[in-house]
Amino acid sequence: MGKVRFGVSISDELSRQLDELARRVDLSRSELVEQAIKNMIADYIHYLVPHDCTGVMVALCPDDKESESVVEKYSDVASAYLHFHQGGRCLEVLMISGPSSRISELHGKLVALGCGVRFMPSLSLDTFSSKAPALQALKRTETKG
Ligand SMILES: [Zn+2]
Repeated sequence: MGKVRFGVSISDELSRQLDELARRVDLSRSELVEQAIKNMIADYIHYLVPHDCTGVMVALCPDDKESESVVEKYSDVASAYLHFHQGGRCLEVLMISGPSSRISELHGKLVALGCGVRFMPSLSLDTFSSKAPALQALKRTETKG
């Protein structure tokens, strides 16, 4: 598979951390960025194709009531949730089930509040991709390049 070269702008600090990490793990900057992009796509791939999705979302948020009110607004997809206080921050653990578009919206709203958010779909990528013709189409376009 061919490689595509492109430029991105990131903060000095992030660039220093990236180089330091690349040195520590003995990878080139490109190899490390490629790995990071693969991980991110694996995390977000469920948002790329409309489908009914299930999983767990974990959010570590500033200690204010805003995250809870956002979660309340998405009670149609956050069917159950746990709310803890840890180290002056709110930790939300959400049981997720519903349209992937709604889940990605919730994810975006929490990130906008300054939360660190991870969504773990319960269906693995392989199981998911065999069910999603749209994803196979996406993959085909990728391989065509
Ligand atoms: Zn899914």
